[in-house]
Amino acid sequence: MQCSTCKNTQLEPQELEPGLVAASCLSCSGALVSLMNYRFWADRYATASSAEEAVSEVEINESESVHSCPKCSRLMMKYQIGAQTHHKLDLCSACDEAWLDKGEWQLLKRLDLHDKLPKVFTDAWQRNIRKQRQEIALNERYERLLGEESFSRVKEFRDWLLQQPNKDAIKQYLISHQD
Ligand SMILES: [Zn+2]
Ligand SMILES: [Zn+2]
Repeated sequence: MQCSTCKNTQLEPQELEPGLVAASCLSCSGALVSLMNYRFWADRYATASSAEEAVSEVEINESESVHSCPKCSRLMMKYQIGAQTHHKLDLCSACDEAWLDKGEWQLLKRLDLHDKLPKVFTDAWQRNIRKQRQEIALNERYERLLGEESFSRVKEFRDWLLQQPNKDAIKQYLISHQD
């Protein structure tokens, strides 16, 4: 198999973690992970490989270009990893193989996702990221509109309000005393 980013470079078996072998590109440090192998590894070893282990900041590559699967040459689909990162993983659903760009395995470890990789490829996960991003965007909009200090007071008030057993009455009061 050849790397789809660096043409003419053979992928070589290399361990991502003890017991987890991926087809790795020595040139761009990308790696093709078989999800079948991954599940086998995750069941047995993932919890042992400490998530707390200090993961140093590593340089992470992100190619916006579409990868083709090194195995079957079909185009791979991109999946968001999380709301706070713009990095995406590529998946060939035909082969059930994921492509990780350089540093993305370390990123998964930092986000504590290294033992639940297949979750990232579910609709629920992707929907949740979109929801979180909308929430972040909404917060940013109101923060700009109200200013940092007022916004943080409003947020604090809202958190308090949501905990009140009579929150509907409080809302009613606010609405009926608008000036
Ligand atoms: Zn490569
Ligand atoms: Zn494939």
